[in-house]
Amino acid sequence: VAKKEEQNSFIFYSARNQKSSTNLIELEEDLRKALTKDEFLLHYQPKQCCHTGKIIGVEALLRWEHGKKGLISPAEFIPLAEETGLIIPIGEQVIDQALKQLKEWQQTLSSSICMAINVSARQVHHENFLTMLTGKLMKYDVDPKCIEIELTENTVMKNSSQSSKVFERLKDIGMKIAIDDFGVEYSSLNYLKNFTFDTLKIDRSFIADITTIDHQAKIVEAIIAMGRALDLVVVAEGVETKEQVDWLKSRDCDVLQGYYIGKPMEVSQVEELLKQPISNK
Ligand code: C2E
Ligand code: MG
Ligand code: MG
Ligand code: MG
Repeated sequence: VAKKEEQNSFIFYSARNQKSSTNLIELEEDLRKALTKDEFLLHYQPKQCCHTGKIIGVEALLRWEHGKKGLISPAEFIPLAEETGLIIPIGEQVIDQALKQLKEWQQTLSSSICMAINVSARQVHHENFLTMLTGKLMKYDVDPKCIEIELTENTVMKNSSQSSKVFERLKDIGMKIAIDDFGVEYSSLNYLKNFTFDTLKIDRSFIADITTIDHQAKIVEAIIAMGRALDLVVVAEGVETKEQVDWLKSRDCDVLQGYYIGKPMEVSQVEELLKQPISNK
């Protein structure tokens, strides 16, 4: 029986791989073209200060407006972009667009607004990364203190000695570094031990059950306490309910992010939000 199952699953997987590999080739072609067709755009998700209720900044989230398939989410194309190296030119477009937008908002809306930008392993470890980044800062005359680079644990661990060097430089320049999706990788604590960060973003899978499962609540309490002890700004990701907001506020979390505060949105919507005095959510 075991043998038969093995055989079946082999057939199943190879068929699936074949289908998905033609899809992947197509997707790669499209991805390459998308760069020149200007199909990439950014949406922005607000971050709210727990203590003041103010929107303190936004996170830039990449979107692909595919000619035929419509809006495609980054989860679907970032892995392929990484694999093919296309993440390098795509990532450069992201940084260019984000900094340009930030400068505009700082001039027209609020000089204190900050921008978080997601960067993946291949980008950080690319030889030209720092030069490109500092070039963009100069191009738009943006204060590096208003920029936070979000990295997943995976990114850092892929090449930790190289990562350390890049991080040192980012810090020298004055930028902030956040650990994204904290808690989901197996090496979370190791990572805290070996690098210094400014911000810890608790993955939304931990936030989901804080008001319903006591065990989960205790884990998040401990993560917040640890973040506090290490002088990190603690951000809760994926905040979706009023109950979660109240819970996080009472536990002294610093920043809230999630659909309850605001979904990732287009430029015009962000502007409306930033013009409002103070959200009392
Ligand atoms: P992330 O940086 O952890 O971003 C948070 C993701 O969770 C976003 O998905 C966001 O839309 C979603 N989210 C936010 N609040 C909620 C909530 O309350 N509930 C639920 N269910 N989801 C929420 P998105 O935009 O699809 O991005 C997925 C991932 O793709 C990002 O995770 C990030 O790792 C990556 N990514 C996005 N933009 C870029 C980029 O410009 N460059 C790189 N390298 N990666 C990016
Ligand atoms: Mg992020
Ligand atoms: Mg995240
Ligand atoms: Mg994520």
